[in-house]
Amino acid sequence: MIQNIRGTKDLFFEEILKWHFVEEQFRKVSNLFGYNELRTPIFEKTEVFQRSIGETSDIVNKEMYTFIDKGGESITLRPEMTAALVRCVVQHNLYNLYQNLRLWYFGPFFRYERPQKGRLRQFHQYGAECIGSPYPESDAEIIFLANSIINSLNINNYTLEINSIGNLNSREKYKNELINYLKDNFDKLSEDSKNRLNINPLRILDSKDENDKKIIDNCPNILEYLDDESKEHFDLLINILDKSNVKYSLQPKLVRGLDYYSHTVFEYKSNTLGSQDAFGGGGRYNNLIEELGGKPTPAVGFALGVERLILIMDNSNNFVDLTKKIDFYIVYSKYEYFDKISLISNILRNNGYSVIFDIQRKSFKSQLREADKLNAKFVIIIGEDEYRNNQLTLKNLSNGLQKTIPIDSIEAINLYL
Ligand code: AMP
Repeated sequence: MIQNIRGTKDLFFEEILKWHFVEEQFRKVSNLFGYNELRTPIFEKTEVFQRSIGETSDIVNKEMYTFIDKGGESITLRPEMTAALVRCVVQHNLYNLYQNLRLWYFGPFFRYERPQKGRLRQFHQYGAECIGSPYPESDAEIIFLANSIINSLNINNYTLEINSIGNLNSREKYKNELINYLKDNFDKLSEDSKNRLNINPLRILDSKDENDKKIIDNCPNILEYLDDESKEHFDLLINILDKSNVKYSLQPKLVRGLDYYSHTVFEYKSNTLGSQDAFGGGGRYNNLIEELGGKPTPAVGFALGVERLILIMDNSNNFVDLTKKIDFYIVYSKYEYFDKISLISNILRNNGYSVIFDIQRKSFKSQLREADKLNAKFVIIIGEDEYRNNQLTLKNLSNGLQKTIPIDSIEAINLYL
């Protein structure tokens, strides 16, 4: 038997109804904030990601699904959206259409990671990007949107961790201090962190190694290295969050692994998820658009992992009454009556009702059993009498009440329900 690829998932029946529910919330809430959906292809030229995410990140280094296509071009299945979205914005000059672009997306992403609960090789993200404003009001808008999405899914027990990694100047100053501090503790660092020290020292702050964590506990605090511009931006944002009653926790060790971030970075965590406790993250990226060939444009955005959102919702029993109901199941006693069945079902469907009828030539009794199993609200019965008199019997399965009506009045069936 051929099986699906490790780290991918097939979705069907009840599981897909959960996805429909969350996808509906994504659309609804994005609309409430005036965001427009954007879709791009699931693969891009490899340089889109290489140039933006950074050669030293785990994603580019070891997780990308990259291949040479038959034309000899290096192609990559998208590991995240921001870089692809920026490629699209620059290519189509979208920022010339609106001074402030508000965009959202939902779709599959691909990373060659070690699969485990909540970590897949094909996973899905919902995300949004606010392009064009350098001001903390836009960071706030993005956080309000992320919070609203999470709230719309009835997810309550989560924390929003937030930090600023400042502008390039502040970050360089901090990096030097951090390298000095870590060099003093070099022997005690894990091998991974030793390797990162000169390539990407900020990433060491993310280390899950217990010894590294002890060393990191006492490392310099990035917030103390912010220059005036960076500090003002962050203070204003924190002030807005305080005044808007947004709960957050300051996390000076939060850096996020990608090269393109500056200033604000944040992450959503839930303790119901186990070791993969982050279910979303984002931040500001003021230089990325220019780096991908566009005109200098500030931006901020976030992404939420949909599998992890659904895991949290499962763990908190947030999905209620997902059973799909069918409006009508048509039961008929002879398959020769099918002409009337197709007529009735066409009219009902044209009027917006869902209809199922037997196509297995099953007995009358087992058709009724199937109507029950499929959660039909009403059964339409065409027996011998009904067929001869051009009538149908309508039975309400929730109260058992039955009435017989002329087939000619089917257009007005709502009057009989
Ligand atoms: P990132 O930008 O890498 O932090 O990704 C944002 C969110 O996407 C994470 O918080 C996860 O919820 C989700 N995510 C990232 N990688 C995976 C993966 N391999 N499997 C499932 N979800 C993922």
